[in-house]
Amino acid sequence: MVHIPMVGDTSARRGGRKLNIDELTSEDFSAIVKRNPIAILPMGAVEEHGSHLPLGTDSFQCEEVVNRLAKEFGALVLPPIRYGDCRSTRNFPGTISLSFETLQAVVMDVLSELARNGISRVVVLSGHAGSGHMASLKLAAQRVAERHANMKIMVLSDYDIAYDLAGKEFPETDGHAGQIETSRMLAIRPDLVGAERPCGDSRPPRYMIVNDPERCFPSGVMGDSRDASAEKGKRIDDYIFTELSRIMTEDFGAQREKGDTSASDIGKEEESHGH
Ligand SMILES: [Zn+2]
Repeated sequence: MVHIPMVGDTSARRGGRKLNIDELTSEDFSAIVKRNPIAILPMGAVEEHGSHLPLGTDSFQCEEVVNRLAKEFGALVLPPIRYGDCRSTRNFPGTISLSFETLQAVVMDVLSELARNGISRVVVLSGHAGSGHMASLKLAAQRVAERHANMKIMVLSDYDIAYDLAGKEFPETDGHAGQIETSRMLAIRPDLVGAERPCGDSRPPRYMIVNDPERCFPSGVMGDSRDASAEKGKRIDDYIFTELSRIMTEDFGAQREKGDTSASDIGKEEESHGH
């Protein structure tokens, strides 16, 4: 039987080897932990993304990158947390946000449990990049790092990297549900991208505390999605993947796995798979 990766397939495999923690047995997991693997925790959000993108946009983009990284480094993939702390889009229909404290508590618990299970290197990669959301993740990681001296944790958003390209290949003002985000979704989940290409040129004031931030961007979009394309999205994703690979190698001691996996690999499936 050939495993045919489908668009939107969330299973990460290298050769026939399973990389998703929740697809492994307890025994498989225990054997893999002895090799000191990196674990990656994908963080998403359920959040308004204009009239053209789905609420799970941040989850889909992040999980795509995480699966590529996992295959490259033989890293384990944790079940994604597809909720985040979403403030500026809070009052749009469909945004389902966790509070700062809840998010922090959930991520702290997951990271602590990983430490208890002997995992010592974790990358928390978030598709949602709101400042409050990222602060919550960083605080959670900080607290766990304080309690577990051996634990190395990296926390970042793929948008920390993607927005390097704003002001270069893409407009300086590109943001939420704009050209970069729309392009990335066209590259990975075109089936979920609507025909409209909205444009919004304003955003909530940076330092004001307001209850109705949506008043400043009624379109729910920050940027111009009209020139988005799948080809641009693929280039952006390649850039994110390359940069993240470099960061993980340089700052985290991640090592690329060479060649394909052998028959002795733990957690492999019975059948051989096509690639
Ligand atoms: Zn987004």
